[in-house]
Amino acid sequence: MELLGQDDYVSLTMEFRCNLKCVHCMIEGTMDTLEPQSEDQFAEILQVQKNERPWRGIILTGSEITLMKSLPELAERARAAGFDRVRIQSHGMKIGNPVYLDRLINAGVNEYFISIPGCDSVTNDAITQVPGSWEKAYAGLQNLDGYNDVIAITNSVITRESYHLLPNIVDNLASLTSLAQMEFWFYWPMTERDEKNLVPRFTDALPFLVEAIARAESLGRRVEVKNFPECLLGDYGDRLINDQPVLLIDPAFWTQFERNGFYQCVHRDQCSSQQCLGLNTAYRERYGDETELLRPLN
Ligand code: SF4
Repeated sequence: MELLGQDDYVSLTMEFRCNLKCVHCMIEGTMDTLEPQSEDQFAEILQVQKNERPWRGIILTGSEITLMKSLPELAERARAAGFDRVRIQSHGMKIGNPVYLDRLINAGVNEYFISIPGCDSVTNDAITQVPGSWEKAYAGLQNLDGYNDVIAITNSVITRESYHLLPNIVDNLASLTSLAQMEFWFYWPMTERDEKNLVPRFTDALPFLVEAIARAESLGRRVEVKNFPECLLGDYGDRLINDQPVLLIDPAFWTQFERNGFYQCVHRDQCSSQQCLGLNTAYRERYGDETELLRPLN
């Protein structure tokens, strides 16, 4: 199955509970107050798809979507409405259970976007703060390899605690056959300050990120990088893809998101990058403007 583009999807936040406690969680302060999309909103999207077919895929997301008991039914309804692809965004622990995964597969879930914050049980579980989370998620990714026509995508958040792990994450997932894409998201704190001391300096993370990209691509994976200066990625600049699918989410999320204050690069007016988010408020507060480091693109 080929990978589709961001424009092919509509994304719905259907569940705001989670049973991990990732240190880098970007919505932990708002998770308890954000409202998931309602049944009516879900049904409305299905009706649009039935009538007009504007998308090829639907993404069911939130905090941890597999906590939603009705997930298999939602997937079945989405497929019946004409979505070829149903993607879930998950920490992957529950698909470590082959019976549960089989249920999702039979319901039509054929894309699995799995968060992998560390490279093994020690580093991963230290970040998720739940023992056994690596073991279950890795088993889930292995279980996916037993099916045809499914795609796995991993997402690893780049923080001060994880940037040095990136090449090892790639290596330790090298044998997975369904893993088609690896994403690396440079952490943003959803506030004006890096209160948890997790934002790495670009120059510290860069060599590990570049090495991870090279290793992932040598394995035939597609790579996407989020929220990193395009000018620092050199030949890998076009791996920076900050576009996202249409997202249906509680409007209160965007109030919080705005607090990041993206697009604060001093070279922005001279730079031709279409994708770069520049610096955010928390980064500038910790490391300054990086005026000499960053170079506007022609
Ligand atoms: S100069 Fe600034 S806006 Fe341009 S790519 Fe670099 S960080 Fe992004």
